[in-house]
Amino acid sequence: MDTTVKHKTPFVATRNACKMCAPLGSSLAFKGVEGCTPLIHGSQGCSTYVRRYLISHFKEPVDIASSNFTQEATIFGGGINLKLALDNVKSQYKPKIIGISTTCLSETIGDDVSSILKDYRNTPGNEDTAYVHAQTPSYQGSHADGFHEAVASLVKQFARSGESNDKTVLLGGLMSPADLRYLKEVMQAMQMPFVLLPDYSETMDNPHWDEYKLIPEGGTTIAEMAEMGSAKAFIQFGEVLNKGRLAGRVNSGHKVVAAGDILQKEFSVPGYHIPFPIGIDNSDLFFDALKNISSRELPPEIAKERGRLVDAYVDGHKYIFGKKAMVYGEEDFVIALTGFLTEIGIDPVIIATGGESKLFEQRIREKTGTKNSIVLSGGDFEQMAEYARQIGLDLIVGHSKGYYIARELGIPMVRVGFPVHDRVGGQRLLHLGYRGTNQLFDTIVNAVIQQKQDNSPVGYKYM
Ligand code: SF4
Repeated sequence: MDTTVKHKTPFVATRNACKMCAPLGSSLAFKGVEGCTPLIHGSQGCSTYVRRYLISHFKEPVDIASSNFTQEATIFGGGINLKLALDNVKSQYKPKIIGISTTCLSETIGDDVSSILKDYRNTPGNEDTAYVHAQTPSYQGSHADGFHEAVASLVKQFARSGESNDKTVLLGGLMSPADLRYLKEVMQAMQMPFVLLPDYSETMDNPHWDEYKLIPEGGTTIAEMAEMGSAKAFIQFGEVLNKGRLAGRVNSGHKVVAAGDILQKEFSVPGYHIPFPIGIDNSDLFFDALKNISSRELPPEIAKERGRLVDAYVDGHKYIFGKKAMVYGEEDFVIALTGFLTEIGIDPVIIATGGESKLFEQRIREKTGTKNSIVLSGGDFEQMAEYARQIGLDLIVGHSKGYYIARELGIPMVRVGFPVHDRVGGQRLLHLGYRGTNQLFDTIVNAVIQQKQDNSPVGYKYM
């Protein structure tokens, strides 16, 4: 098949979108803030969908409130429902912050949530709680856009200028709790004070409890978020963020921007915009940024991890060189993964995302040198399957939603990212840095070896 063929959309409706809905991403980001309860302003179904996805990936109880739109609210506005929901959340959860995400429905009818919240906040008894609003209609973006929108709302609301501090702000992205714990471990090893936003490394991967906790411990505190405005520097992971189709777009008077841009433009915090540190090249960029900010060298344990990764590449390269893969997921995650796959000699022939930033293909071509791959923005699994059937794929790298394609084609699948619904441990998958890359590399090489071994007519126990 000629893989240079231009992608055309041969259908009018999405059949199985390669993305999830925007309030899911914003609710996950809000779960990374200490004392925060997410609330979805819309119908029950929206919050049920979000809870179901988060629970089955993270294997944790995930409380997400709903303003429970009715037919009346749809016609006359959801202000009464929202205020009632806030009352209920406050009395039951006693949160420090309520993170409100608006849905397709509440945005379509034009609920003026800012005014409703202002009115609610000014009512006696309601001043002690902070209310943060992320505008997240799903027709405007994917779960990744929702995530970044919530992080930007948090920075906008809580960052304060003040006397400079020596903290480095890490603006994570849609990463696993294991990735977030790894980032914290790296900062400690580099002896660099930091603020990580959002930090759901504990709240979405709890130790076993004897008693249920309405709000799990952990998360970025309000005081830490205030310090971001006078931080020494920030590192923002990702290149697409809210900078694509949504960049600067004014929606009901609200301008869509990425969190790092707010720190840079409004607080003059110097920033590093780097890809997810997956693969040696991308991890080097991350550690170079840390070395620049801290004026310190890499601690020996991290330098050794890099050395082991190079050694692993040398050992495993011959098993995977030239294999053809399909890779998909969130835009920034896939850009980094594609770079990693090309780095290890795998040919990513189908590269897909559900995001529609309009920056995806350009970044893929620029950063990874993949000229002949099919690159799909706004991807649909059915369309990806059609391409996959025509190209002789060896491997799929992505989340559980694409499993049925691997099953149909009888090829191995390496589960990465979110959501991982059909395995345990999705929350403990480590993707980042030299260590995460090494784990990913071993998993990919072993998946290819197992496929060969399982299909060998003689079988073998030694290689
Ligand atoms: S796509 Fe819109 S209506 Fe559907 S669950 Fe998401 S927010 Fe709700």
